[in-house]
Amino acid sequence: MSNPYYIIGVDIGTTSTKAVLFTEARATVCKHFVEYPLYKPTPDAAEQNPEEIFNAVIIAVREVIVKSQIDTSNLLCLSFSSAMHSLIAVDRQGQLLSQSLTWADNRSAKWAEKLKQTELGREIYLRTGTPIHPMSPFVKLVWMRNEYARFFQQAAKFISIKEYVFFRLFKQYIIDYSIASATGLLNLQSLTWEEAALETAGISDRHLSTLVPTTHILNKMDESWAREMRIPANIPTVIGASDGALSNLGVGAISPGIFAITIGTSGAIRAIIDKPISDPKSRLFCYHLADNYWVMGGASNNGGIALSWVRDRLCDAEVATAKQLGKDPYDLLVEIAQTVPAGAEGLIFHPYLTGERSPLWNPQARGSFSGLSLHHTKAHLIRAVFEGIILNLQQILQALEDFTGKANHLKATGGFTRSPFCRQLLADLFNREIIIPESYESSSLGAAVLGLYALKKIPSLDKIIETIGATHQYQPDPAKVETYQKIVSLYTRLLENCVRPSVA
Ligand code: ADP
Repeated sequence: MSNPYYIIGVDIGTTSTKAVLFTEARATVCKHFVEYPLYKPTPDAAEQNPEEIFNAVIIAVREVIVKSQIDTSNLLCLSFSSAMHSLIAVDRQGQLLSQSLTWADNRSAKWAEKLKQTELGREIYLRTGTPIHPMSPFVKLVWMRNEYARFFQQAAKFISIKEYVFFRLFKQYIIDYSIASATGLLNLQSLTWEEAALETAGISDRHLSTLVPTTHILNKMDESWAREMRIPANIPTVIGASDGALSNLGVGAISPGIFAITIGTSGAIRAIIDKPISDPKSRLFCYHLADNYWVMGGASNNGGIALSWVRDRLCDAEVATAKQLGKDPYDLLVEIAQTVPAGAEGLIFHPYLTGERSPLWNPQARGSFSGLSLHHTKAHLIRAVFEGIILNLQQILQALEDFTGKANHLKATGGFTRSPFCRQLLADLFNREIIIPESYESSSLGAAVLGLYALKKIPSLDKIIETIGATHQYQPDPAKVETYQKIVSLYTRLLENCVRPSVA
């Protein structure tokens, strides 16, 4: 039976904004993506133009309305997901003073290093749950305050990209607890701005937006923008949460024992807990999703990027062959990896090609092959890279399980999990069931579900897991598990070789 009610989940990501139109029963009706550039004026910078992103939101929503031709009186709400850790300076009139500095902007690395050495830095991490790292808006503010003091003084507010979009649409500065919890400025226990962090950053709460729950609804949109999007100005708009937290919801990984793993260019493992926890060893993050739902986990820089390094730097001939055969080069790498046994006959790869966030939190970490001998071939190197990416994520899984209890199943998404070989490798290396969820756009779906919850159309977020479908399931193969258990401990023992002393 067709369902006449709809929700739009809007996900403001780092490479594009995606609007997905779902029915109330969570079936995808249509979607539209608008891409935008990431600017790198210097090697360490990674900025975006807030105007380009705002326009992308308007176009993406308008396109799903136009393409689907739905009657907008049947549209229940818009609900928003957004990438975490962005920072924009605006003046008293709300004019932009800076671009949006994304999570990938590394210019504050020196200040992160300094803060990490101090007891104050450790205290602030423990209270806020955001690792002390250049991705963190808190660390970016410390950097700006110290290195661009005049510019810093001109700013009336420091906001994230989602706050900018909401300011343009609703003329209010508001921030949801989820995005706020990833700024490094929010006290996780009290859900108020953390004084010690504000003081260290040299700001007061006047510089920040009003905190609201992730279920907060607005319904007086600026008429002209509503017209541009072809929606009524009084449409309920749910502020929503961050993309990571909403992705857990969108894949149905919000109960004990079910974790979410994403392996795209980078990688992350996330579990839902009911109270905020900070890791005394500073390896993991903890961010808000909704009342009694917190996301704990770790994000690694080195997911599929290590495989793309193999493709681009080691495999020119294989890429050319793949082209001739009309194949995806990654599929050919998978075939080659399968020609050598599990464990790559003693060859171990540590994938720290771009430094590392979780589990090492060391930008100076570097990759390595260990155990090379004469009988190893390129196929062994390739297989070791597939395995090394997962062995690193296994370290995050282990750290996470210290706090959350054991994961029985992992719901896996991202480009790396497109291949059945990689999915089985995950099952064998983790010794857990791997489930491939139905929805690819998990953060948009998560936003839509949170929207339904905010509108009281579903009684609890837990209900969602009953309705999230799976396409494939993979069980660990006991013989391979035995081999990999030995490799996991060897990988861990060799880990310290990858960590070069940090340079201040
Ligand atoms: P992003 O994180 O940038 O959105 P994706 O989720 O699309 O990217 O993942 C891209 C990564 O997925 C690539 O770097 C590559 O390592 C991996 N990948 C792509 N296709 C395959 C495949 N067929 N098998 C295994 N890994 C793949």
